Amino acid sequence: TLDQRWQMRVASGAAGQRIVHLIDQTGNYAAERMRVDFVANASHELRTPLASILGYIETLRDEAGEDAAVRGRFLKIMDDEARRMQRLVEDLISLSRIEAEKYRLPDRAVDLAGLIGEVRAEITKGDVVLDLAEHVPPVAGDRVQLSQVLHNLIGNAIKYGRTDSAVTVKLWKDAGNMVRLSVADKGDGIAAEHIPRLTERFYRVDPGRSRAGGGTGLGLAIVKHIVERHRGRLDISSIVGTGTTVSIVLPAHEAKG
Ligand code: ADP
Repeated sequence: TLDQRWQMRVASGAAGQRIVHLIDQTGNYAAERMRVDFVANASHELRTPLASILGYIETLRDEAGEDAAVRGRFLKIMDDEARRMQRLVEDLISLSRIEAEKYRLPDRAVDLAGLIGEVRAEITKGDVVLDLAEHVPPVAGDRVQLSQVLHNLIGNAIKYGRTDSAVTVKLWKDAGNMVRLSVADKGDGIAAEHIPRLTERFYRVDPGRSRAGGGTGLGLAIVKHIVERHRGRLDISSIVGTGTTVSIVLPAHEAKG
């Protein structure tokens, strides 16, 4: 009998003989499995806050809605849950946009030092220290997507770092006409066995902590896709109890003419 992973195709040869092709479907099954898991996870992540909002609406309709203090408390919870759903939907839209564009090489000259400064100004909590080398060439990129990478990496470093210590963002020119950027925190770090899985969609080391910090579980998956689209590389190194450094290398923009 044929194993599930093989697809059989029968054709006839020139002399009328039957030619049987066995096509290995393992790759397709893995991709299909991932797609099914992704939809299941995304639906589950949306269902939980939605159920909570519906529950509170129901309760507000009853006598609980007459007490202003209770009403205020419930509205706050509903607001938090709705925002959680909004962040998730926005990340899902980002992921699908990035995937749709994955074969278009981004080619604008982007000055990362300037972009890092802009992103730091947009971040309202946490202490971010910059260590930017001079004369770093621009990278070939998509400004909006690179800004999202910076937001996600710095956001994580603040979220999972220690509250009493700064996050350091470094930028320098690497060998081979590449530009390197790193974001380092002094947090609890990540055990080695988790590191290869962090860029999977919805993979979290500590789901409670991620959710409490407003995480969707999609941040590093988005970063990975953007970096791949830029023909760059993503590196995560971490020491438990000491901290984590996430770095990316991107090709410098080649000036034309
Ligand atoms: P989340 O929204 O959960 O932060 P991410 O995709 O950005 O999702 O990250 C996936 C997981 O990787 C996080 O839930 C967390 O467990 C871990 N992680 C990411 N960045 C760091 C960091 N700087 N320090 C420790 N753990 C981290």
